[in-house]
Amino acid sequence: MSETLSIYNTLTRKNEIFTPLYHGMVGMYVCGPTVYNNAHLGNARTFISFDVVFRYLQHLGYKVRYVRNITDAGHLESDADEGEDKISKKAKLEQLEPMEIVQRYTIDFHDVMRAFNTLSPSIEPTATGHIIEQIEMTKQIIANGFAYEVNGSVYFDVTKFAQTHPYTALSNRNLDDLLNNTRELDGQDEKRGRLDFALWIKAKPEHIMRWPSPWGQGFPGWHLECSAMSRKYLGDVFDIHGGGMDLIPTHHTNEVAQNVACTGQHHPVKYWMHTNMLTVNGQKMSKSLGNSFLPLELFTGSHALLDKGYSPMTVRFFMLQAHYRSTLDFSNEALLAAEKGFARLMNAIRLIDSLKTGAATTSNIELLKQNVYAAMNDDFNTPIALAHLFEAVRIINSVNDGKETLSEADKQTLKKLMHEMVFDVLGLREEQAINTDKIDGLMQMILDQRKDAKARKDFASSDLIRDKLKELGFEIKDGKDGTTYSIV
Ligand code: AMP
Ligand code: ZN
Repeated sequence: MSETLSIYNTLTRKNEIFTPLYHGMVGMYVCGPTVYNNAHLGNARTFISFDVVFRYLQHLGYKVRYVRNITDAGHLESDADEGEDKISKKAKLEQLEPMEIVQRYTIDFHDVMRAFNTLSPSIEPTATGHIIEQIEMTKQIIANGFAYEVNGSVYFDVTKFAQTHPYTALSNRNLDDLLNNTRELDGQDEKRGRLDFALWIKAKPEHIMRWPSPWGQGFPGWHLECSAMSRKYLGDVFDIHGGGMDLIPTHHTNEVAQNVACTGQHHPVKYWMHTNMLTVNGQKMSKSLGNSFLPLELFTGSHALLDKGYSPMTVRFFMLQAHYRSTLDFSNEALLAAEKGFARLMNAIRLIDSLKTGAATTSNIELLKQNVYAAMNDDFNTPIALAHLFEAVRIINSVNDGKETLSEADKQTLKKLMHEMVFDVLGLREEQAINTDKIDGLMQMILDQRKDAKARKDFASSDLIRDKLKELGFEIKDGKDGTTYSIV
């Protein structure tokens, strides 16, 4: 494509032309789920957004190594290194081994990702599978003078780091404000500075998930796993790091500090990308606020907030109608509209092959294609890309109705554009794919019956068939070359 891709970089707060570190290749790391409960729809939004980024980069011809981790240890209830490990807590509650919890919810997460037609990442590493790397990194950070050990735990020295490095560069917050908003240390604290955070935490006697280390039995702090795994699979400096916006101030800020303190590199990531939140009545969807629902509840409609169930592709389409950096508010009305929009899009794609072609094209298909790519190249702007794809839908329907004409070459361009953008890049798919052939056969039989009725001048029967089909959601259209149907 002649246009170049630009990405909004959280670090510089600007749209920047994307130039990967190594020609033709992209390394991308996205913070994955903490597998202690079912992934909710908000989590799904973030991973669907990065799925589109992964798909589009591949579509542009890049060889992408996409690393998305599974957090299966070390994520405490509070970002301030307080509370229990989320997985251990759930294990106790359900009287299960922590790894049973991890297994159950990793499977659930994969099921959800598959339902939404997201591609698997290239590597899906786990925190527990990289304890050695995390210990080594901690040792290096201590050796470089940016961490200290107290009573079997190791803390990152933010005060010292901030003297020589821009600790808040990513969040763009003022360090003094941050300090003033963090609780004061008391005599009980092992930390030297209010903003210090744990790299390694000493395990209390009752803590099950523990590993030996140079500092005794313990477990890694949450932020450390992403530093260790991104370095291992993508190198000390890599192209794209992503996650939800809520991760910027603590998790990602601390990740950067760890990487820099360990490797001495200026900054580990070239482009930081952050997705905005899925909200319910303007409030972030989150398990702790009690306003979250599970994808399965959405598919079946079994939730108090839902009027009915919506298919996975309707939900994916609904999400793509908002730019990933905008909030997206859940509502039944928006989902109903998405259901109609998605059906319209699929119907048009189904029609392309049967379109009659002529000598000339009344619309500018090349310009349409350029507009779609320009939208995607502008920081993956899926709502604008979809708006242009709906212009294509309008053209397809117009040509089908005989109101506009299309040349054979333009028809092929349109077909390729729709298939590549809708299926390969946006990751939508036909939901009745398995049954399409059967439905086609059945419909042909019914339409033949109606044709016979008409031939016998039995218009009462032919109209009845048409009306009954309409009630069932099948719209039929009589044209010069026979009768076609679409599912509405
Ligand atoms: P967690 O499993 O809580 O670590 O979250 C996994 C990912 O989902 C993180 O990147 C979060 O930022 C993201 N996330 C959590 N809640 C929402 C939400 N309501 N909307 C969008 N993304 C979210
Ligand atoms: Zn992370």
